[in-house]
Amino acid sequence: MSEQVSLKGAPAFDAERIRADFPILDQQVNGHPLVYLDNAATTQKPEAVIQAIVDYYRHDNSNVHRGAHALAERATEKFENARSKVAAFINAAESRQVIWTKGTTEGLNLVAATWGRTNLKPGDRVLVSGMEHHSNIVPWQMVAAEKGATVEAIPVDATGTIDMDAYAAMLDERVKMVSCGHVSNAFGTINPIQDIIRLAHEAGALCMIDGAQGISHWAVDVQALDCDFYVFSAHKLFGPTGLGVLYGKVELLESMPPYQGGGEMIESVSFAGTTYNQLPYKFEAGTPDIAGVIALGAAVDYVNSYDRVAAAAHEQALLAYAEDKARAMPGLKLVGTAANKTAVMSFLLEGAHPHDVGMLLDQQGVAVRTGNHCAQPIMDQYGIPGTVRASFSIYNTFADVDRLFEALTKVRQFL
Ligand code: PLP
Repeated sequence: MSEQVSLKGAPAFDAERIRADFPILDQQVNGHPLVYLDNAATTQKPEAVIQAIVDYYRHDNSNVHRGAHALAERATEKFENARSKVAAFINAAESRQVIWTKGTTEGLNLVAATWGRTNLKPGDRVLVSGMEHHSNIVPWQMVAAEKGATVEAIPVDATGTIDMDAYAAMLDERVKMVSCGHVSNAFGTINPIQDIIRLAHEAGALCMIDGAQGISHWAVDVQALDCDFYVFSAHKLFGPTGLGVLYGKVELLESMPPYQGGGEMIESVSFAGTTYNQLPYKFEAGTPDIAGVIALGAAVDYVNSYDRVAAAAHEQALLAYAEDKARAMPGLKLVGTAANKTAVMSFLLEGAHPHDVGMLLDQQGVAVRTGNHCAQPIMDQYGIPGTVRASFSIYNTFADVDRLFEALTKVRQFL
């Protein structure tokens, strides 16, 4: 698991009980009970999150921060409460360090466009790992092209592990930003982000962490990590789609220009000159996803309601069980076999295109993801079109893993 978390002696975890909180799981797909193993793409939503959205629209719907009436006050209070909950959840020192975005992608774009455009100069270097999601590559390429900087890939080996010696050797005074995933969405590799951040700082660079795949599996402490920015999406944390969080150090957020102009992000507007609002509003132009933010607050409450160490141990046990079965299956090749992994199993079936495998699994009610997982450079490095990816969450059971392998056995007979 993560460097900070020990799972030894973790209490038992009742995944069957948790499962009952997720109404979507109780359905048939193509005539079979659904087995949902696409959690790295998006997690399902517990009843409490769905209810928070319904309650907001039934009882509190109003715009935030500006109305002089009871509904607006209620909506604003719940909206800002959610910000405090998220701040506490990631151990941010202040809630104004939590900026609402549309998702991980927007958080990365925001920092690349505002910090990057202000600070990068010709000859500067931005480092990202070779197995990043496209959303942690392309925004940097866009700003680098504009500023005459370069974006370089930190080497990743055949197991999906970052080469830390190569990384250390790449660092010099021209490196201004290291932006790295907490966990690889393609393979589940848990990157040694504490070391990555420390080495970046020693070289005088900032470090941004793409936490899209890390946040749902164990506690994240942004102060202990000492990262400069940390971004994630609500929908991978049992919350709604289209909403995310950018955490940043205050002095950096203060020094960055706004990302978008409009309502809320201003203090005063005049044709003689406009002044900007304080944090976090400076980065929150326009009416936000109020229902989504309140629902994310409910998702955080939900995650805080169970033992996260026990949940992580359960996910690890599922992964170990699945990988044992995978190793015993003729013609199945695991892709991404790093020593430190979260509950993602990427694989190929000999002689079968991943897409065909995915379709045949779906016909048996098993939902997985196939393709390059928005990580084309590492797939190109491995010389493969992509993989089949089964990713586990807190509500998955050993019976789900059994169903996956029963279905895979049929796929192999069929192909
Ligand atoms: N980064 C990683 C590691 C991801 O797994 C994802 C989504 O799959 C993203 C970024 C993009 O997240 P979103 O589409 O929610 O902005």
